[in-house]
Amino acid sequence: MGRRKSKRKPPPKKKMTGALDTQFTCPFCNHEKSCQVKMDKVRNTGLIVCQVCLEDFQTSINYLSEPADVYSDWIDACEAANN
Ligand SMILES: [Zn+2]
Repeated sequence: MGRRKSKRKPPPKKKMTGALDTQFTCPFCNHEKSCQVKMDKVRNTGLIVCQVCLEDFQTSINYLSEPADVYSDWIDACEAANN
């Protein structure tokens, strides 16, 4: 009689990290994850708002756009404004 080692696999964990990050560091007040992106795909508009200093920025998006694109547009706009 052979003993079988029963290898129990741990239950698969749900990936919570798969979701796209929609929180970013604010370029104005430098708070981490204080900026929330909202993607309005109906109006093709991306809106990002800092919940700490209430700075906001709006840019046009398309169906391929991701929250990170809205954020990088904002950073670009900030740099352009500083020059
Ligand atoms: Zn801020």
